[in-house]
Amino acid sequence: MTMQITAAVARNVGGELSLENITLDAPRADEILVKITATGVCHTDLAVMAGHLPTPMPVVLGHEGAGIVEAVGAKVTKVAPGDSVVITYNSCGSCPSCQDGAMSYCYEFFPRNFFGTRADGSVALKDSSGPVHSNFFGQSSFASHALANERNVVKVDATGDDLALMGPLACGIQTGAGTVMNALKVQSGKSFVVFGAGSVGLAAVMAAKVQGATTIIAVDLHDTRLKLAKELGATHTFNAGADDVVDQIKLATGGGANYALDTTGLPPVIRQAVDSMAPRGKAAVLGAPMPGSEISVDNTDFMSTGKTLMGVVEGESDGDTFIPKLIDLWRAGKFPFDKLVKFYAFDQINTAIHDSHEGTAIKPILRMT
Ligand SMILES: [Zn+2]
Ligand SMILES: [Zn+2]
Repeated sequence: MTMQITAAVARNVGGELSLENITLDAPRADEILVKITATGVCHTDLAVMAGHLPTPMPVVLGHEGAGIVEAVGAKVTKVAPGDSVVITYNSCGSCPSCQDGAMSYCYEFFPRNFFGTRADGSVALKDSSGPVHSNFFGQSSFASHALANERNVVKVDATGDDLALMGPLACGIQTGAGTVMNALKVQSGKSFVVFGAGSVGLAAVMAAKVQGATTIIAVDLHDTRLKLAKELGATHTFNAGADDVVDQIKLATGGGANYALDTTGLPPVIRQAVDSMAPRGKAAVLGAPMPGSEISVDNTDFMSTGKTLMGVVEGESDGDTFIPKLIDLWRAGKFPFDKLVKFYAFDQINTAIHDSHEGTAIKPILRMT
C-alpha cells in the first residue's frame, strides 16, 4: 500500500527544489504517518543542498516538521491518529549513548539522520523513474506527508497557527536553547556570549535570559540581527567586523565571559570564543563545519585558565521533555521564538531558502496546509 504525496525533491547539488507528486509507502508496524502542517527551514537542509553532507540525491529534505498524526503502524503506542506532533532528530535507541538518554550523541546519528534511508537501507519514497531518498532526520518533512517513528515524534498541545510555529523547536530552536540550558548549564548571575545571531544564536540569547544570566552578549556581522538580539535579551551587542571583539567582550564582562557559544562553525570565530572567556569559562561549538576543518587554541592559556571547550549536537535535547518545556516558556512570554519566524507557502520553498541564505528571513517556516 502506498499513497500519493506532494514533496520538494532535491535532485542536484546546488540546484533548486522542485515540488513533485511522488509515492510514499504506507506506515510499517513501527512507523507513524504524519500529515505535515508546516516545516521549518534549517541550515542543515541548506548544507545538504550545497553538498557539504553525505546525503544522497534525489532526496526529500526537511527536518523541522509539525503536523497531525494520520495513521500509525500496529506496534505504535506513543501517539494516535489526530494527535498534534513535532518531529525531531532520529536515534537508534540501543547504543550506549541512547541507553544513557544522550540521544543526540547516538552512535548511529549519521546513518539515522543523513543517509536518506530507513535503518534497514530501504527507502520510503519513489517517483516514476525509481527510488527517492527518504527518512531524512527520520522524517523528510518538506512534504505533505511524512513517515516518522516513536523515537522522533514529540506530542505537543497545539492546534492551528500554534502548531505551524512549533516545527523549529524540533531542531534549530532546541539546538540554541538546549546548548545553553542542558549542555553549558548557564547559571544565574553569570555572563554569556554568543557568536552568530541567526535562529540558533538568538534562541541561545533567549535561553540565557531564562537562565538568569546578567550579561548577555551577541556578536554578528549584521546590525539588524544585533538589534533583534537586544530585543530578545542581549545586554550588549558587538559587530564582528571590529577587530577588537575579544577585548570588547572582556571589558563588558569585567575580565571575560563565563560561557561562550559559537554557532558559526568557523575556526577563527571559535578561537575568539575561547579567547574571550574568563578563567574556568565553558565554551560550546555546534555549527556545521566544513569537512576536515580543525580548531586550534592557545595551549598555555587554555590549560592554565581551566577552560572547557565542548561539542554539542541538538542542544543535548530529549524532545519529549525539552520541547514541551520550551512551549511552556513561550506561552509564559519568556521565550518569544515566534519573533524569529517568517511564514511562506509550500510552493515558495525556493524563495524561503534564498531568503535564509540572504539573511532576510531568520527562521523560514513553510506552510503545507
Ligand atoms: Zn543510539
Ligand atoms: Zn536542523
